[in-house]
Amino acid sequence: MAALPLSSSTGLTDLFGRQVTYLRLSVTDRCDLRCVYCMAEDMAFLPRKDLLTIEELYRLAATFIKFGIRKIRITGGEPLARRGIITLFELLQPHIGASLDEVTLTTNGTLLSRFAEPLAKAGVQRINVSLDTLNPVRYEKITRRGDIAHVFNGLEAAQKAGLKVKLNTVAMQGGFLNEVDSLIRFAHGRGMDLTLIEEMPLGLTGHDRYDTHLSLSRLRESLAQRWTLSPLQASTGGPARYVQVEETGGRLGFITPLSCDFCAHCNRVRVGSTGRLYPCMGQTGMVELREILRGCEGGTALTEAIHKAVAGKPEGHNFLIEKNNTRGILRHMSELGG
Ligand code: SAM
Ligand code: SF4
Repeated sequence: MAALPLSSSTGLTDLFGRQVTYLRLSVTDRCDLRCVYCMAEDMAFLPRKDLLTIEELYRLAATFIKFGIRKIRITGGEPLARRGIITLFELLQPHIGASLDEVTLTTNGTLLSRFAEPLAKAGVQRINVSLDTLNPVRYEKITRRGDIAHVFNGLEAAQKAGLKVKLNTVAMQGGFLNEVDSLIRFAHGRGMDLTLIEEMPLGLTGHDRYDTHLSLSRLRESLAQRWTLSPLQASTGGPARYVQVEETGGRLGFITPLSCDFCAHCNRVRVGSTGRLYPCMGQTGMVELREILRGCEGGTALTEAIHKAVAGKPEGHNFLIEKNNTRGILRHMSELGG
């Protein structure tokens, strides 16, 4: 299929005056890993027939672009495990620099050595790679099966292909605390930003989140005793707050959905791989777009459904992690696109 014509924007603004300009599009809920904070060991995945096709994913993305979306992040599950994924990037490519500022990717990196070059050729400039440890044994434990060597090879291939890489690390109690300094040195030593993410209570994973959750506000205080952290004003428009680590010259981000205000400047919506539009990842509300997209009602019904979902974007999430009192969402992060 050829890329659809580039068109002008009619903005999406919610009832709290937040302009939605960022779409996270999940292309699959499947993954080659089973990270302990993300999935259960024995996950049941969605039937493949329920997933949007690559062409439908593109048509949906193009509709959002028409409504003023400026940035699209392709995510999952593991997006690089989705067959035909590069075609989606190629279809989006003509929009980059015109109606779209960028198309990015979040990946676990295991397949990056194969896909780095095609991604760069399809106009991708920046990617996020999730890596929670540098230790092969710990990596296998956290991912319940992964081989860290694949990620290291992927990172090398990505940088060789000219992709700018940011590392994402979910901060958890335990081994992470012994490794955080090494992760900072590793990322910054290779010219990569590092973002630390607080664990969120999304989906049942087989452990009590209270036992693993780590407050990044507190971690930041302890890091500040070892590193010189200078706050950076530049905002990505997203939830991360960045500091410059003076000793390394690199940037360190903190995503703190639980311990700090996170929602006031939210500019994003998420679409799951079956076409469900989630205006907030921390609430249950969603609007089904797949049948509208497949139906014969045409563009008007889709327009109405998208506007309705954005109008219903809640003010904030409802997460809470306390002893014997964790409040979360049953849906896994991999279903709606992390
Ligand atoms: N598979 C890809 C990856 O791991 O980068 C993309 C999808 S994954 C769901 C996207 C991001 O969500 C990853 O950085 C992952 O660490 C994060 N994530 C998954 N479950 C989470 C949770 N319960 N709390 C916080 N972050 C989570
Ligand atoms: Fe897979 Fe990403 Fe979830 Fe890990 S965080 S299980 S890599 S989807």
